[in-house]
Amino acid sequence: MISVKSLYKQFGDLEVLKGIDLQVEQGKVVVVIGPSGSGKTTLLRCLNILEKPTSGIVEIDQQSLDFSQKVPSGKIADFRRLTGMVFQNYNLFPHMTALQNVMEGPITVKKEEKAKVKERAISLLHKVGLGDKLDFYPFQLSGGQQQRVGIARALAMEPKVMLFDEPTSALDPELVGEVLRVMKELAHEGMTMVVVTHEMKFAKEVADEVIFMDDGKIVEQGEPKEIFENPITDRTKQFLRLIE
Ligand code: ADP
Repeated sequence: MISVKSLYKQFGDLEVLKGIDLQVEQGKVVVVIGPSGSGKTTLLRCLNILEKPTSGIVEIDQQSLDFSQKVPSGKIADFRRLTGMVFQNYNLFPHMTALQNVMEGPITVKKEEKAKVKERAISLLHKVGLGDKLDFYPFQLSGGQQQRVGIARALAMEPKVMLFDEPTSALDPELVGEVLRVMKELAHEGMTMVVVTHEMKFAKEVADEVIFMDDGKIVEQGEPKEIFENPITDRTKQFLRLIE
C-alpha cells in the first residue's frame, strides 16, 4: 500500500531525512518511535506531501511520485487525497460544528453531494462515539472529543491510508484512552495506518511493525515484541531505557 524509496528531506542546510526506505502492506499498522527531532513528523508529512521531499520516490496505492523530477502540483493534490492525516493539535475549524468539520473536505475538495456527505459524516461521528455532539463547536468539546472529530474528519475523505502524528500527546492523560480506542478499532477493521506516537502500550498491542528512527534514518524495524524485548542496536536500547 505504501512504498518509500530513498527519501531525503532538507530544510535549508539541515538534512532531516537521510535516505528512508519503507514498505507498508495493506491493512498493516506501523508505529514510528524515536527521539524528538529524529524526523518522525517530517516523514509522516512527506507521505502526504505536506512537506515536499527533496528527493526520493513515494508510492501509495500504486500512485507514484518521483521527487528527483519536478512533480506538478495537480498531481500532488490528487496524491494527498489517498491519505487522511490526524494532527497533534486536532486542527479543527473553530467556527464550524463537529458535523460541519467532518463534512467540509468531501464537499469543498471532492465536490460530493451534500446530502450523501451529511449521512456519511453523521455515521462517522457515531462511529467515534460522538453521535450526540454533532452540533457542538470545538470549544464545547474536550481534547479527546476534538481529536475524535479529527479522526472522523480524516475518514470522511475515504482515504486509503491514515497517518497519525502524535494524536494523543496534547491530551490530558485521562482522555488518551478514548482516542486510542478509536484508533485500535480502525486498525482491527483493516485500515492501513502509520502512527507516530509515544504510547508504547498502543505500539505493543496494535502495531504489526515498529520503526525506530534516529537522526533522519530508520535504525531498526521489526515486530513490536522484537523491538521492545530484544532491541539490536545500542541506540534503540538507550531510547527504550529512557522512555520506560
Ligand atoms: P520528530 O517528529 O522526530 O520530533 P521532526 O520531523 O519534527 O522530528 O523534526 C526533525 C528536524 O527537522 C528537527 O531538527 C526540526 O527542527 C526540523 N524541522 C522540522 N520542520 C522544519 C521546518 N519546517 N523548517 C525547518 N526545520 C524543520
